[in-house]
Amino acid sequence: MKKNKNMSRNLVIFTLVLVVLFVAIFALTRMADNTDKSVTSVSAPDITGQPVLGKQDAKVTIVEFGDYKCPSCKAWGERILPQLTESYIDTGKAKFSYVNVLFHGEESTVGALAGEAVLANTPDAFWPFHKAIFDAQPDLDHDSLWLTPDKMIEIAGAINLGIDTGKLREAIDSRTTLSQVNKDEALVKKFKVEQTPTIMINNIVITNPFDYALITKTIEDELKK
Ligand code: CA
Repeated sequence: MKKNKNMSRNLVIFTLVLVVLFVAIFALTRMADNTDKSVTSVSAPDITGQPVLGKQDAKVTIVEFGDYKCPSCKAWGERILPQLTESYIDTGKAKFSYVNVLFHGEESTVGALAGEAVLANTPDAFWPFHKAIFDAQPDLDHDSLWLTPDKMIEIAGAINLGIDTGKLREAIDSRTTLSQVNKDEALVKKFKVEQTPTIMINNIVITNPFDYALITKTIEDELKK
């Protein structure tokens, strides 16, 4: 009786080890698959009404689905975007656009509402304002409350590019740019964005947004088309 019990216990342990092994192998292969590939979507996102950095008629369109509360988006803007700007955006080969994703609740919404309001009222101030929000994201405790209407007003004043801060506060408080934010949400749903930043080059989703070699190869391939 005791022997049987031991045997069945051993069998259970053996099966468990086997299951864990299979799951680990599966996860590792999935990870390896995902790091160096890109996925083609049926279409490129429609960026009508979205902010555009670079020439409107550039052949390649790079879209970032981002969230002002997301630390990886801050890192992407610091590490990848400057290289892209120098090599492709400033040279007229590509244009860059940003679509809001609201994965971190009310703070994401406040950032998105503020960004849309600046874009609507003071379009020339949009990109500096956009960068200043990411600059204001705390390096360590980014989960704590920092993206507030007050912070948006403070940033708008600090960059000194003619943003009407009274109008901006009104826009955030009354959610006057909510329809633009909803438009972004519709794109997020349409393209099934599940992580931020998600980077699309024309209709191609770059699975690892920090793989700069893959990004440049994809842009070069699109430029040849
Ligand atoms: Ca937008």
